[in-house]
Amino acid sequence: MQKTVITRKDAQEAKIKTRAMAKGTERKITLSEAKQKSRQRMVKTTADKVNDIYGNALSSMMSIRSETGVVYDESMALHCCLWDKSYPECPERFTSVINRCREMKLIERCKEIKPRLATKSEVLTIHTTDHYNLLESTKNCLNEDLLEEISSNYDAIYIHPTTFNLSLLACGSTIELVDNILDGKVQNGMAIIRPPGHHAMKAEFNGYCFFNNVAVAAQHALDNKSVNKILIVDWDVHHGQGTQRAFYNDPRVVYFSIHRFEHGTFWPNLRESDFDYVGSESGEGTNINVPLNKVGMTNADYLAIFQQLLMPIAVEFQPELILISAGYDAALGCMEFQPDLIIVSCGFDSGLMKFFSLIFAVFFISVIFLHLFVSILKKIFESNNIKICIISAKI
Ligand SMILES: [Zn+2]
Repeated sequence: MQKTVITRKDAQEAKIKTRAMAKGTERKITLSEAKQKSRQRMVKTTADKVNDIYGNALSSMMSIRSETGVVYDESMALHCCLWDKSYPECPERFTSVINRCREMKLIERCKEIKPRLATKSEVLTIHTTDHYNLLESTKNCLNEDLLEEISSNYDAIYIHPTTFNLSLLACGSTIELVDNILDGKVQNGMAIIRPPGHHAMKAEFNGYCFFNNVAVAAQHALDNKSVNKILIVDWDVHHGQGTQRAFYNDPRVVYFSIHRFEHGTFWPNLRESDFDYVGSESGEGTNINVPLNKVGMTNADYLAIFQQLLMPIAVEFQPELILISAGYDAALGCMEFQPDLIIVSCGFDSGLMKFFSLIFAVFFISVIFLHLFVSILKKIFESNNIKICIISAKI
């Protein structure tokens, strides 16, 4: 018998049934079931869209930390300028760091990574064969005049009979440290090496640099370690044009450099060191220059750059590996740039600090500076998937 009273619910169900029949389909679910399914779909859609950028930090809270690696080689003190004993790039740039690390018992707290030479094929991923062969031709060369003549063809370069081997050693040791980090043998690490690398270009020695250690190591990670997103932070006071050029078209590498620029009047005096050089082709937007046009920057300036520029970019990029070109010349106490060219004070320029020796100041502040930065990075990125590697050199 047909119902004489039609309720609101009956009307809704009849409507659904009519629509289903009109489409030639059978009605299979009730209205309440349909609503429930709709709600579930909405929840699922919302969940798909929300990406928790702090997920790595939260999920790593309970993870077990492993050691910090350190790599260096005493022979790196051999590289020196034979014809100018007062040349700024000198062995003490290496020995003072190592000595201070030992005094503070930092080395013994780290896992020492065995240094190694880079292979020719590794170097050739970034540099040309002619570039490699030219430096190789100076290996163990005792003709000082010839070394000086070759050096004079380049900007801020001297070549020593040990330079070729030590350049391979600096480059190979950087690769070895990155491998140890990516293989999970150490949590993070620091390479204390020279000659430095960030000014070395594809086919040109430049600014104390021969092989671009960070660029070769980054390329190695891309080619051999299934790493697809690398962040290179370069806080050396000079712009690392060699590293910028190496990855200018590569969207897998974000290069972030803070450097003195002073409208192009500061070395290396390149137009490409300015803020509007942002990468090209598929790498457009992955090259970030922060050129400083004024001197006397303070903690606040650097922290603002880190927090307001670097961190948002880094959080969005979510790198798998972070390489830091940690040139010390941005720190208070760098002889090369005193007295009026000081960039970073880091809050340690108090009266007490003036009692400390210059080398102590340079290194201590550098370490604090590095520690501060790495601590900030760790808060955001620390997980089993994101690695931090500091390449320490005065460049
Ligand atoms: Zn520098």
